[in-house]
Amino acid sequence: MVWFNNLVALLVVLGIAGIIAFFSPIAAALVLALALAWFVIAQSRNTQKLYDWLLAPQLRSVPESSGSWGEIFDNVSRFMRSEQHARDALTEEIEQIRESIDRLPDALIVLDDKNVIQWCNAAAENLLGVFASRRPITQFIRQPEFGRYLKADSYDAPLELELSTRPGRIFEVRIHDTEDRKRLLISRDITEQAMLNQMRSDFVANVSHEIRTPVTVIGGFAETMLDLDLDEAKRREYLGTIVRNSHTMQRLVEDLLTLSSLEAMDTTGLNETIDLARLFTTLAGEARDLSNGRHEIRSEPPRGLSILGRTAEIESAIRNFLTNAVRYTPENGTISLEWKRSTDNDGWISVRDNGIGIAAEHLPRLSERFYRVDRGRSRATGGTGLGLAIVKRIANRHNASLHIDSVIGEGSTFSLILPKSRIKTTDGAIADAATDTGAADDDLANKADKSP
Ligand code: ADP
Repeated sequence: MVWFNNLVALLVVLGIAGIIAFFSPIAAALVLALALAWFVIAQSRNTQKLYDWLLAPQLRSVPESSGSWGEIFDNVSRFMRSEQHARDALTEEIEQIRESIDRLPDALIVLDDKNVIQWCNAAAENLLGVFASRRPITQFIRQPEFGRYLKADSYDAPLELELSTRPGRIFEVRIHDTEDRKRLLISRDITEQAMLNQMRSDFVANVSHEIRTPVTVIGGFAETMLDLDLDEAKRREYLGTIVRNSHTMQRLVEDLLTLSSLEAMDTTGLNETIDLARLFTTLAGEARDLSNGRHEIRSEPPRGLSILGRTAEIESAIRNFLTNAVRYTPENGTISLEWKRSTDNDGWISVRDNGIGIAAEHLPRLSERFYRVDRGRSRATGGTGLGLAIVKRIANRHNASLHIDSVIGEGSTFSLILPKSRIKTTDGAIADAATDTGAADDDLANKADKSP
């Protein structure tokens, strides 16, 4: 303790001076004067050291001394060290927070009450070329609607914008008032979400449109039948139209349900063993029934091969190709169901027809929901515009793909390409192209057969 040490020193000096005063009061006074002089000089030196150090405490080390001043300087030094540690820890923490904010995909910008940029993160720099530049934000986001948004009284709803620095992308801009009269501007890329919303509303509009047509026809014909006294022939004709349109609606609802269940279903149960020969025979038989003798339907299944997949889904995909081939191939045309292996061992199940064909510009869009080359023809043949969208979904679920080749006026080939891991010999081994043994005998017989 500093005061105690100084008190002891004073008592010692006074004691010595008291003893000397017995012999010589003058000598005692001299000792006291010397002690006082020494004390004043020591205090002045240490005060000067402290003063000099305080002029630049960060640059110089804390001075050293002995006695009470030594203790004081040691304490100051300890205090400075612990302050430095606290400062380092705080700096590190701020650095980490800054790094995290810089890693955010959203652009953050702090504005003052005059909308001048105070601070921003890395995403804002990349997105807008905004640097913590002390320039008004309106110099970087120049759209008039943003100017109006800035002036608004409340920022409950965000603003959607296309920024000039990122053409084709859509951004959501939000402003939050902070307590110190500043504003935090957050901007986020919502292109995917906006596209999804657009797709959703297009889908609802399409479904409504598709349903409205047959419903209007059914309603119209039913009303006419109620209002008019029709002869038997007309009555049957109108009832036929009503039934046809109700079937269209039924198919539409069924296809919509299939699509939504495919989207909701997980990918378990996709490894059933499906014998290719049996699959080809069944589906070619169905196609012959559908064609009702109007086409030659060939089927060329390989022997001894199976594929792994969900039977109902694979059947539905190939059935879709065949149904379309029957619908879009004029009478006396030829439709064949084929199997081949590509050079990288994938398995192609293809339906080839020599029907009307499709112009090249339509090919990339055929698997979009409700996309049709010729809406009238699709409707007239009972199409829903969802068949290839369903096939595409089934293909994705099986790590397979949909391939379409077509030449307008010459015909089309629709293929489901299965990865080699989904192709097995009937005894369960993974089959490579060398294992394929050509078309099964019974189906070869069908090859040249015109269906009954
Ligand atoms: P849709 O129910 O209209 O047939 P799909 O999704 O099955 O719907 O097919 C989309 C469109 O692709 C059809 O409207 C048709 O224009 C075209 N298309 C499909 N298969 C064939 C084919 N074999 N030949 C010619 N055009 C086809």
